[in-house]
Amino acid sequence: MDDLYRETIIEHYKNPAHKGRLDPHDYAFADSNPLCGDHIEISLRTDGAGVVTEAAFEGHGCAISQASADLLIDSIIGKPVEEIKKLGKDYILGMLGIELGPVRLKCALLSLKVLKAGVYGLEDFADDWPE
Ligand code: ZN
Repeated sequence: MDDLYRETIIEHYKNPAHKGRLDPHDYAFADSNPLCGDHIEISLRTDGAGVVTEAAFEGHGCAISQASADLLIDSIIGKPVEEIKKLGKDYILGMLGIELGPVRLKCALLSLKVLKAGVYGLEDFADDWPE
């Protein structure tokens, strides 16, 4: 693993900029990756034009899962929800900038999976998120 990228991941893991819950919110979703024990909950607020104005995540798990959530949240503030629906895995892998094996890939993509489920309006169960 490249040292520079590894430092970025550890920095986001230790000092996330977007940790928290937005209540009320316009979109929220939560999911987990049982293979690693990662949990991510994402909540978003949007303006009348469907642009994300605030976003935050809660969660725990490995450094890659949590750093990926923080990077993702940081990058989507100011983006229209319609644009978020089109984000693919390359988007998040590009931000992480490291090669990942199949197990770590699930960690890296959990936040994107949660975000997309949220903006596609799947059932909001973030309120029932186990502490
Ligand atoms: Zn993980």
